[in-house]
Amino acid sequence: MKPLTYLRARDVDHAVRTVAGDPRAAFLAGGTTEVDLIRLGVTAPDLVVDINDLPLADVSATAHGGLRIGALTRMNDVARAPEVVTRYRGLSQALLLGASQQLRNMASMGGNLCQRVRCPYFRDGLSPCNKREPGTGCAALEGVNRGHAVLGTSEHCIATHPSDAAVALVAFDATVQTIGPAGTRSIPIDDFYLLPGDTPDVEHPLEHGELVAAIDLPALPLARSSLYVKFRDRQSYEFALVSVLAAIEVDGGVVRDIRLALGGVGTKPWRARRAEAALLGSPATADSFAQAAEQELAAAVPRRDNTFKVEFARRAVVRALSQAAGSLR
Ligand SMILES: Cc1cc2nc3c(=O)[nH]c(=O)nc-3n(C[C@H](O)[C@H](O)[C@H](O)COP(=O)(O)OP(=O)(O)OC[C@H]3O[C@@H](n4cnc5c(N)ncnc54)[C@H](O)[C@@H]3O)c2cc1C
Ligand code: SF4
Repeated sequence: MKPLTYLRARDVDHAVRTVAGDPRAAFLAGGTTEVDLIRLGVTAPDLVVDINDLPLADVSATAHGGLRIGALTRMNDVARAPEVVTRYRGLSQALLLGASQQLRNMASMGGNLCQRVRCPYFRDGLSPCNKREPGTGCAALEGVNRGHAVLGTSEHCIATHPSDAAVALVAFDATVQTIGPAGTRSIPIDDFYLLPGDTPDVEHPLEHGELVAAIDLPALPLARSSLYVKFRDRQSYEFALVSVLAAIEVDGGVVRDIRLALGGVGTKPWRARRAEAALLGSPATADSFAQAAEQELAAAVPRRDNTFKVEFARRAVVRALSQAAGSLR
């Protein structure tokens, strides 16, 4: 392993200035992704700036009736915060279905949003990978791609976004609050994740040195009854093959309001806007749910090993929406 310098930031300004001033510097939060990638030789910063002393670890109410989650709040603390459990149930469930107890005690929310892909070709540090080394190609296109994405892919990258929490945050229209060398910004979470296109190495619209400070959730009564379902190869300590965040309001058998997002199938946490539009005003039946899911998945581009994800996602949407609508227990 290449030697590196470790520095503990005194305050936000110190952290931002230090990383912004050195193109080879990186933030370090819980380290559950960053340290792995340094050990594997996938990333090689000269300087890691530990941000754990910064005062960004609270869950607090916002002026508009929503919730602010500090970037350094740990996954387990957010999952168990009473306001999250009661008002944004699907987010709590998504967090508790991710990683392991020990990892969730270490891993921060900012780090969770910024975690890197789990594509084995990215992580082996050797294979052609446009995300790790732009212009080298994508070994996954013709390689083992069972876990890869079917939505939002390009000919340059098909890696799935790994975060569970981000699927819930996308469904709830969260906003990412940042502090950078040029000041503060509010970035709608859907814009915080970029499609790979022909620059898969650019994952977020962040400047180098721009710190995620908090995540804001708007007041959203529908989120109270939201739920997150996750399907994976084993029941714990595993990333999603397919996951669904569903929240639905049904009145007189008709869908009056809906939020739907998918994990495990997209190159970014996938807000299922086509399916939402198709379902608004439609009967809340398994048939409508299936048709809406088909419309969303019509854009899917499966590869050799992951064709099953299209049907899997369709069924998962029907199951999650039926459960959220109360027609399935
Ligand atoms: C075995 C294993 C299983 C896992 N399973 C799941 C799972 O099922 N679901 C899931 O969602 N996740 C899973 N994870 C991923 C885990 O949730 C992330 O590793 C964790 O959330 C990252 O947070 P961290 O604080 O440790 O970030 P770090 O490792 O410290 O940082 C991660 C990245 O984010 C950057 N960063 C960190 N904080 C900030 C900030 N405030 N502003 C800007 N950049 C920042 C760092 O520079 C780095 O690039 C798993 C991880 C492991 C190791
Ligand atoms: S899918 Fe993306 S991360 Fe994986 S090898 Fe291809 S370019 Fe790299």
